[in-house]
Amino acid sequence: MQLGLIGYYSDFVVYPIVILVLAAAGLTEAGAERAPGWIAIVVGCLVLWTLTEYVLHRFVLHHVPYIKDLHDRHHVEERSSVGTPTWLSLGVHALVAFLPVWLLSGFVAASAVSCGLMLGYLWYVSIHHMIHHWHPIHPSYLYTLKRRHAVHHHIDENANFGVTSVFWDRVFRTARL
Ligand SMILES: [Zn+2]
Ligand SMILES: [Zn+2]
Repeated sequence: MQLGLIGYYSDFVVYPIVILVLAAAGLTEAGAERAPGWIAIVVGCLVLWTLTEYVLHRFVLHHVPYIKDLHDRHHVEERSSVGTPTWLSLGVHALVAFLPVWLLSGFVAASAVSCGLMLGYLWYVSIHHMIHHWHPIHPSYLYTLKRRHAVHHHIDENANFGVTSVFWDRVFRTARL
């Protein structure tokens, strides 16, 4: 959806606050004994995010009606503020991840799962912003990601669905240099 300036940048303010509050509450509830397990879930879900990012981009952003039209606009007007509003991404996250895990396994597990996935999402929106608005030096990690994403935007939209990593494109044979 077309976002205003505040809408576009609110992810970078709201997500860190939600993650910090949830981490403080989750770790307090977990206590020292369960803290290592809590951290392990966060790291696992951070890795899980990279696959989620790939699947969402490949199968939702490029195929689901209406969402596809908006994403097509982003492909053409790559610096415009077309994006997902924070309330929508947070709402979907709460319904699909946080609440089900809370009901099934309790608050400690739910807070860890959410912190991992939301950290991944924040990393993704940050990288995506940087590769469209910054001019990273060559060679660098960011330059490689920018180049790969430019190939996806302008040369082959059936390749390079991963934004923050190349791993899943390699696994599913959609990587293109
Ligand atoms: Zn795309
Ligand atoms: Zn893009």
